[in-house]
Amino acid sequence: METVSTPTVWSQETALKEKRDVWQAMKRGFRGRCPRCGEGKLFRAFLKTADSCSNCGQDFTPHRADDLPAYLVIVIVGHIVVPLALMIETNYSPPVALQLAIYLPLTFVASLALLQPVKGAVVGMQWALRMHGFDENNPEP
Ligand SMILES: [Zn+2]
Repeated sequence: METVSTPTVWSQETALKEKRDVWQAMKRGFRGRCPRCGEGKLFRAFLKTADSCSNCGQDFTPHRADDLPAYLVIVIVGHIVVPLALMIETNYSPPVALQLAIYLPLTFVASLALLQPVKGAVVGMQWALRMHGFDENNPEP
């Protein structure tokens, strides 16, 4: 029996469905790099994403993380600080003023340190999963 195979023909549809590695894109975003090429900068300010990648030209304007990075940072920092505070209170019971002098700056610094990397990871995930607003001039950024 003769089998006929259909050759892969390039078309706009096949080109648009390139495979995107979610974890790699999130890692690149976490480091503040373009999720597509890993070279260009993702941010132009602390929490402002650049309009496009300086290396590959990837358009970042349709990728908006909104409040998700802040929620994720609250969850992450909360899961570090709260068990630490409970463990220290249970075992050592230091004065409340001393605990506040440690936990409040720790929470503040950890939140600031994680906010940009987490936002980068969220934007990387959005890019990899093609989660973006529709733009009729550029339907597949
Ligand atoms: Zn790039």
